[in-house]
Amino acid sequence: MYEKMWGAEPFWGLGYDWDPDWVLTDRQKGLRETLITLCEQEMRANAKRSDDELLFPRRNLELLGEHGFLALCVPEEWGGLGENHVAYAMAAETIARYGCASTAMCWIMHMGAVAALMLRPTPELVDKYVRRLGSGLIGTISYSDPETGSHFWYPVSSRAERRNGGYRINKKASWTTSGGFADFYVLQTTSPDFTGYDDLSVFVVDKEHCEAEPSLWDALGMRGNQSGAVSFTDVEVPGTQRVGPEGDGAFSNDEAVDPSFLIGSSACWNGLAIGAVDIAKRHTTRKRHVDVGMRVADYPTIQDYVGQAVMETNASRMFVYSVAQALDEATENNTKKLEPGERARSRFLHWAWQIKFVAAQNAGNVVDAMLHACGGSGYKRDMELERYLRDAKAGWVMGPTNEVLRQFVGKAVLLGFESLDYWNQSYNRRVVENEVNKLDAAAKRELAERLLAEAAKAEAEEPGSS
Ligand SMILES: Cc1cc2nc3c(=O)[nH]c(=O)nc-3n(C[C@H](O)[C@H](O)[C@H](O)COP(=O)(O)OP(=O)(O)OC[C@H]3O[C@@H](n4cnc5c(N)ncnc54)[C@H](O)[C@@H]3O)c2cc1C
Repeated sequence: MYEKMWGAEPFWGLGYDWDPDWVLTDRQKGLRETLITLCEQEMRANAKRSDDELLFPRRNLELLGEHGFLALCVPEEWGGLGENHVAYAMAAETIARYGCASTAMCWIMHMGAVAALMLRPTPELVDKYVRRLGSGLIGTISYSDPETGSHFWYPVSSRAERRNGGYRINKKASWTTSGGFADFYVLQTTSPDFTGYDDLSVFVVDKEHCEAEPSLWDALGMRGNQSGAVSFTDVEVPGTQRVGPEGDGAFSNDEAVDPSFLIGSSACWNGLAIGAVDIAKRHTTRKRHVDVGMRVADYPTIQDYVGQAVMETNASRMFVYSVAQALDEATENNTKKLEPGERARSRFLHWAWQIKFVAAQNAGNVVDAMLHACGGSGYKRDMELERYLRDAKAGWVMGPTNEVLRQFVGKAVLLGFESLDYWNQSYNRRVVENEVNKLDAAAKRELAERLLAEAAKAEAEEPGSS
């Protein structure tokens, strides 16, 4: 096995013998070497500045662009590296592990935006965005809505109307990574002929239309990722800015945006977890206690912390790579052209939920354990561990949050996928009848009268009623 290097020196953390390299092609291992070199030369140092100064990691993203990573999964004929989901997971993990988690998150959101375009590539979208990624064009996904919190699939503060042969778009997003800094924004709104919240459409809007106040962004971790609120007010765009047919939003979310975000972000949490172990190895093998003549790493307690962290993180890494492999198989290595309604990645969405839950939970646990292993030294800023700890804590709360995911999985297992009811459309008869049974006769009558009045009003408003 060849040695992992950090510049001219052997890497101070875990070597390649603890990386599951059998999932990577030789080319992917080469891409990883390039990323590690970029992290060592510049990206890791920039991470500290981004964290200290709430600085958008523009230089790091430029470096990724210069080496082709902004178009990692774009076909070669459109100027990309033509890589697959495994390469994407590897790159997200590597950037977060050796370099900068904020950069990793901005890049993951960029990759999600590119994935949405690549699901429905038109000549106009390819020329305007996809072919220009090599020149450093940065995209992002703007989905979360201030009114529905982490239920980002429910954009109540948005709409699109047909206008002058194109569309007029209004959108409010409570969080948008790279908000105010990205060059293009992939947004989800309700459709022009809105029939319910499962009737969503996707648009791409350029930066000049984005209203953002980056100066308001301040957070525990991921401080460079600038995920502030943004809005788009009465923005008029030509029809060529629509991504996919009207009404394709829910499908695009399940087939492109969600799988992309869940693979990328899970890999980022894994990178932070194993990166925290790297730091703990560096510290505990160097720090000595003169009284007992031992290094911190010589205590069995510390070995237990590290052993458990490595095994649990590697289980999570293998889980992510395995789901990435399933997506590669379903999409013929990310080359299959999918027609509207044709499913490939979305068949594995319930697996993607599981990897995000496991990776985010594990990262939160591992950074805590590595802090304990390093003691008070780990609490100080110069060791970098505390930045990994703060960045990793974003995993659990980022949508879909871990509370939502474990409920999705448990509910789908017990009651079936149809019970998930993303858009609050199905009626839970058991709950309603149980509550109604608590009412006395007068309260039942009052409720019945109110419901009859509401039903009469709804009927009168139905199209065709006189
Ligand atoms: C660093 C960072 C970057 C981000 N970047 C982006 C981005 O680029 N684009 C984007 O669209 N969004 C982004 N987000 C937003 C993210 O996806 C979530 O929408 C956001 O974190 C949710 O926060 P909230 O305060 O609205 O939570 P709330 O939705 O108010 O949740 C509060 C609590 O209620 C729980 N909860 C909510 N719904 C349920 C339910 N149905 N069942 C059980 N429990 C529930 C939650 O799990 C949580 O514990 C980012 C968030 C962070 C932290």
